[in-house]
This record gives sequence, structure tokens and C-alpha cells, in this order.
Amino acid sequence: MAIVTRFPPSPTGYLHIGGARTAFFCWLFARRRQGRFILRIEDTDVERSTAESVQAILDGMAWLGLDYDEGPVYQSKRVDRYRQVIGQMLQARQAYHCYCTKDELEQMREQQRSRGGKPRYDGRCRDRREPRPGIDPVVRFKNPKAGSVVIDDLVKGRIVIRNDELDDLIIARSDGTPTYNFTVVVDDMDMGVTHVIRGDDHVNNTPRQINILAALGAQVPAYAHVPMIMGADGKRLSKRHGAVSVTQYRDEGYLPDALLNYLARLGWSHGDQEIFTREEMISLFDIREVHRNAAVFNPEKLLWLNYEYMKSADPGDLKEQGRRHFQAAGIAIDAQDNWEQVIRANQERSKTLVELVQRSAFFFRQPDGYDDKAVKKHFKGEAHAVLAALIQSLQSLADWEPAAIHDCVHSLAERLGLGLGKVAQPIRVAVAGVAVSPPIDETLAILGRDQTLSRLRAALDFIDQDNAGTVG
Ligand code: GLU
Repeated sequence: MAIVTRFPPSPTGYLHIGGARTAFFCWLFARRRQGRFILRIEDTDVERSTAESVQAILDGMAWLGLDYDEGPVYQSKRVDRYRQVIGQMLQARQAYHCYCTKDELEQMREQQRSRGGKPRYDGRCRDRREPRPGIDPVVRFKNPKAGSVVIDDLVKGRIVIRNDELDDLIIARSDGTPTYNFTVVVDDMDMGVTHVIRGDDHVNNTPRQINILAALGAQVPAYAHVPMIMGADGKRLSKRHGAVSVTQYRDEGYLPDALLNYLARLGWSHGDQEIFTREEMISLFDIREVHRNAAVFNPEKLLWLNYEYMKSADPGDLKEQGRRHFQAAGIAIDAQDNWEQVIRANQERSKTLVELVQRSAFFFRQPDGYDDKAVKKHFKGEAHAVLAALIQSLQSLADWEPAAIHDCVHSLAERLGLGLGKVAQPIRVAVAGVAVSPPIDETLAILGRDQTLSRLRAALDFIDQDNAGTVG
């Protein structure tokens, strides 16, 4: 069977990580079985749908590398089709006009409640033939009265719902617009969806959707309802728990593969393996193995995983992924001759791309100034002598490469009778503006002779002036 999955977000906010996980599961499922993956934008709620949300969804999908074989399909462009199916169902008496007013419905529910029953529509307009003047009717689906709907959910197992627990669902509002449960059904049918993978907040919609699909003579897809993601406090994940939008993780410097890896592991496992390549996930992921209980989101673990990805990433990939972050810091990374060395020297120390940019920036441009604390701590005492002597020896260094620079710094420390820290730290502050950098020999080698010497000289001047200021 050819597999077709779909991800149908409603564009009423950003793409949140719960949605991204669902999208990823759909994508993995389709990719593993050479199926098709459809992106559908469920934008029939015009009041709540926005163009920005659509863009955030498209950006999020692109950033995560979740490519689709069809779409984006916009439901707002399919309204004629929905109307057509509603007409067809009315004609076949699978649906009917309901003229009940709000007051009537309220009264009906009140009576049901007072009798201790569940409030729901009792089907009183089912057999009405005459319209009621002055009322624009809604359209309701004639839900079967007898029997049960059986769902063999791929995650939750068998779910059985008796039809007498379901009432006649409104499929078109009084202004003629179709409702959510109906548009989903028509789309899933028209698009030949074979597997519906979605959050378990939709599980109550499923029996209704199955009944409508059956009425339309459509193939009923398989369903997999994926448990929600919770915060550490056991509440549904929300802004209170930190970042929940995919683009926010992008902006904070996470790698898309690390985020996807983390999301896949939320509620799915394969032995104790934590790190999976995309290809591994495609070949190993099975929707049937998704755990039944809710998963707890752990931002520290995500950060740890991102760090693991940062350390082992190819510098070229980090340049690609990091371009927007370098740009935000005013650095045109593609124009830097030494980008690869710089990234290589810093990636093992950077938990995120944002941190990578912070640590790398001084290689590409002179720091604006020196960190106050670092100045107080490291530009005192012998620092002046260290920098002056270093300039002397580096000027005449034959080969500008790490081993030679290493020897030079070490012999200087020996000559001055100083510990290595006392030598290396003022150099760091001089070239980086702060007291952190990769190993000093590697740092100077990457910076190049001219930049190194000019920054060391500028630091000497700074110390001179600083001293003059203190004395004066
Ligand atoms: N538009 C629905 C949502 O965003 C999709 C539900 C479904 O997958 O059928 O929750």
C-alpha cells in the first residue's frame, strides 16, 4: 500500500514543538515507507488564522528540513469543494438542515442535565422537511444511532466508542462555512491519506470523522494518536516552561537535527541510543513504538544533545546553519577566509550556534574594547613586560604555525620566570578582549601574524594609558 501522511496545522500561532514532533513523526513514517507527506494549512477559521503564522509554519518546516511532497494546500482555497460535498450529503440524506435556535438548544441541554444525562443534540430536526422561515439553518451530519466505532489506534491500542454517545455534528454553520471536523474528513479523503498521526487532543474527534468518512464511502485511514508533551510540573507544555516555538529554538542557536533528535526521543526509544542521524531515525522509527504516556520536556537534555551535535558537526554545516547568527552579529561569514579554522577551534566549546558566534567573533574583527574584569585581573603587574617581549619574539618567528607559537610562548614564560597562565591570560585579553579563547597557540595561529601583532601593540598602548591615568 502506498503510504500517505499529512501534517495539517492551523495557522493561529507559531509552529510549536509539539506540532513539530507530530510533523516529524508523519515525515519519518512516510519517508521510511517511500510514502507521500502532505502539508495542509487548516486556515478556515479566518478570524484566528494569520499570514504570519502561515509563514512561521513554512519557515519552521524549512528550517527543520521537513520537506513535503504536496502542499502547502490551503483549506481556504477548497471551500467550493466542501460546499459540494455538503450538498451531496444533504441530497443523500446523510446530513440535514437544523433550524433549532440557541434558546431551544439551551433548553434541551438543560432538560437533559436535569435528568442526569449528558447534554447533546437530540436529532429533533432529522426528519423535518419544511424550512423554518427567518432562520438560516446549520447542517448536521446524521450520525449512526446504533453500533460502535472501533479504532485500532497504532499508539493507544483499541478504542471503542458507542454511536449513541455521539450526537449529530454540525458540519456547516448557518453562514454556510464548513466546520473543522468536516473539512479534515473531506481533505483526508480527497488526498488519499492512509495514516493520520496527530496529537491525542484530537482523539475525541476521530470517531466522528470515521463516521463521516464511512458515510462518504471513503477508505478510513489508520490512526495514531501521539501523547502530549508535558512540562516538568506535569502540565501541558506552554510558554511557562520556556521556549515552545520552533523558530525560537532556531533563534537561540539550536541545530535542527538536534531538535528533531530530541523530539523523536520524547516518547520513542530504541534501546539506550540517544543520538541518531536522520537516516537512522528514518530506518528505525516505528509509530507503533511510540509510548502511550505523556512525555516530559527537559530543556537541559535538549541543550546537552545540541552540544553533542555542535561538537561533532562538520564546520561547513555549522557555517550554513550559523549564517543567520553571524549575520546578526554583523559578520559576513562567507567572506571570511579563515571561517573553517575558527569554527573548528570553537565548536567544541559551544553549546549553541549563538555561543559559537560569540566565541568566534574576535577572530573576524577587533573587539570593541576589553572586558573590565579581565583588564583588572590580567593587565597588571608583569602583563606589560609579557606583551612587549612577546611582540619581539613573534615578529621574528619564522613559521607562523601553532607549534612554533607554542614554543615561543613557553620559552617566554621560562625566560620571565612566570607560570604559563600569567603569560597566556594577558595575551588572551589583548587579542580577544576577554579572558577566554581556544588554546593560545591555535588562537594566534588562526588570527595571523599581522592581526596578532597589531592587537598586542594596541593592548600595550592601552596598558600604558591606563597606567598614566592611574598615576596622574
Ligand atoms: N488543524 C489541526 C490542529 O492543528 C490538525 C488536526 C489533525 O491532525 O487532524 O490541531
